[in-house]
Amino acid sequence: MPVYTDEGVVLRTVKLGEADRIITLLTRDHGKVRAVAKGVRRTKSRFGARLEPFMRAQLLLAKGRNLDVVSQAVCVGAYADEISQDYDSYLAANLIVETADKLVTTEKEQVTEQYRLLISALGALSRREHPAWQIGESYVLRAMQRAGWSPRLSSCVVCGRTDRLEWFSVPLGGTVCSDDRTPACRRISRPEAALIFALLTGDWKDCGNAQSENVESLVEEWTQFYLERPLKTVNLIHS
Ligand SMILES: [Zn+2]
Repeated sequence: MPVYTDEGVVLRTVKLGEADRIITLLTRDHGKVRAVAKGVRRTKSRFGARLEPFMRAQLLLAKGRNLDVVSQAVCVGAYADEISQDYDSYLAANLIVETADKLVTTEKEQVTEQYRLLISALGALSRREHPAWQIGESYVLRAMQRAGWSPRLSSCVVCGRTDRLEWFSVPLGGTVCSDDRTPACRRISRPEAALIFALLTGDWKDCGNAQSENVESLVEEWTQFYLERPLKTVNLIHS
């Protein structure tokens, strides 16, 4: 079988048979890759814990007819240890890998920007650079933006005016003025709109520390609407 090397982050794993796993990876050069890791669930697996979610590894892969096969995995970013020690970071990391998994639907298509966003978000989480929820929400907003779904926040999506923007419409794609609002619109305050903008642009100093439930639920609705599938992690956070 022809082999290739790449580095990638484990997004998800599924059991296969007695001892194997199917690993879903986002790689730097080959985009999304699904590969079999043989014997990974045995106690003396040569892969150890290198193929668990949030792990970043240097990989040697063999091309298969359906799924590729992981031949070697060397850990290059042990984010998982740091992330798993803190429950908020763990939840945010789950949201991040789940969003990446759903956003990148085509396999073996290079998505360099999405890969960079992913490793920088997991790295920031492991280093506790900012509050975990902000890293998670910022990642989701930016990943969605790169995929073409960016909210308009500075003017009304219907009439274009820049004042009285007290409402937000997910299907219309941004803020709506009081005159144009429909019953389906949700309230948004100016500080909340500013927070979304700061998360989107990575202006961490403007994010403060306060957690905003309204912003989180808005980002959640935004993501679910444009990805058209509910995210499991969101239900976990709210359960
Ligand atoms: Zn308007």
